[in-house]
Amino acid sequence: TDATAYLDALTRVIPDFPEPGILFRDLTPVFADGPALTAVADALVAPFAGGFDVIAGVEARGFALAAAAAARSGHGLLLVRKAGKLPGATLSESYALEYGEATLQVHAGQLPAGTRVLLVDDVLATGGTLGASQRLIERAGWVLAGTAVVLELEGLGGRERLAPREVVALQQG
Ligand code: IMP
Repeated sequence: TDATAYLDALTRVIPDFPEPGILFRDLTPVFADGPALTAVADALVAPFAGGFDVIAGVEARGFALAAAAAARSGHGLLLVRKAGKLPGATLSESYALEYGEATLQVHAGQLPAGTRVLLVDDVLATGGTLGASQRLIERAGWVLAGTAVVLELEGLGGRERLAPREVVALQQG
């Protein structure tokens, strides 16, 4: 697809970031290219067309993708934020990091019960981030319409961790 070609051309692989031994995939060149961003946003949504009401993005790069996809498809945007940023009543889900844990939040009652939410992020690694986001959506009473990522890093168990919920990835690496 168009999106795959743009990703192949523009994704940068940076060794030893943010720590020694980590091979970091940098999607910022994709974000900075208009036709690439448009193609990626459209490709994230395409498998779920007609089956969702709103697009959720995970802070921070997921926001950029979800906002682009929401605007392209004419849907609203739901923010899955890091703890302590949302002013209203929140729901929280935590997940383990290599050292310590992280917490994500949504505004409880942001959308009516039964709203179908398409969840979007840039990279699936161990699945902690998306797993917590999926639990938030379901605990809030919304329906998880699908989960889409630009890049799935294989061998880290992310897809298995999210099972039986499916993930659509534009690329594997
Ligand atoms: P997970 O929770 O282990 O699946 O990690 C996924 C989160 O870490 C996502 O929100 C990504 O933005 C970020 N992440 C992990 N590895 C990379 C990478 O190589 N490039 C960009 N982001 C990454």
